[in-house]
Amino acid sequence: MTHHSEKELKWPEGDKLRPGLYIVATPIGNLRDITLRALDTLKMVDKIACEDTRVTGKLLKAYDISKPTLTYNDHSDEKKRRDIISAIQNGQSIALVSDAGCPLISDPGFKLIRDLTKEDIYVTSIPGASAALTGLQLSGLSSDSFCFIGFLPSKQKARQDNLKEWEAVSSTLIAYETGPRLLASLKDIRDVLGERRVCVARELTKMFEEKRSDYVFEHIAYYEVNGAPKGEIVLVIEGAKQKIWDDEQLIE
Ligand code: SAM
Repeated sequence: MTHHSEKELKWPEGDKLRPGLYIVATPIGNLRDITLRALDTLKMVDKIACEDTRVTGKLLKAYDISKPTLTYNDHSDEKKRRDIISAIQNGQSIALVSDAGCPLISDPGFKLIRDLTKEDIYVTSIPGASAALTGLQLSGLSSDSFCFIGFLPSKQKARQDNLKEWEAVSSTLIAYETGPRLLASLKDIRDVLGERRVCVARELTKMFEEKRSDYVFEHIAYYEVNGAPKGEIVLVIEGAKQKIWDDEQLIE
């Protein structure tokens, strides 16, 4: 058993958070997947910047936290970011949360952190659940090296062009996907990347959690018969096989 010092367990050191931005991960489905430190932080900050205040409102209610909230997403204008920056410069602590999982991971936050970094303002992250890593863990595919490629584009041409960029990458690829687009994406994966093992991880941490690991053509056959699945999906795709060149190819 690892022994943790009292200092590590006690957080923060005083009874007030230092001024700054606290990136707080929230559950990706199961409400109990939130860390003790995330709850401490949400209770202690001056306000919470949310992707959607209604979604976060439900989480706060479940944990009996009442705190002023404001909306922040990367479409928010420069002024909203300036307001957050000034509030921190005036001594406030602000949490940033998205609807689910880790802020900034296919979610808002990057522009805000970029600006805070430029201003040398204190930013920290309270880590927690993310669908990408949860899907990777379950996939049965190599996890030594992986590449998170975000959402695949919704239009076919853009999606195929995007997949071409990853064609030669030998790391496992992780993408976010939606049920209605799954079949079309699987077909493009087969056409552009070739026959590979893929894990379709769905509704992670929720009541109907499911993972299907198989070759792409088997998935295509399955979803052609069973129709588009419901819920949220992570696609984990086997990386490219390392090419073994023979002497002639090497000379060429
Ligand atoms: N920031 C989040 C994170 O850290 O996982 C991801 C936000 S992104 C807008 C939402 C996408 O993440 C969904 O469309 C789906 O692809 C994936 N996702 C989120 N929750 C999931 C879950 N419980 N099971 C499977 N995929 C999930």
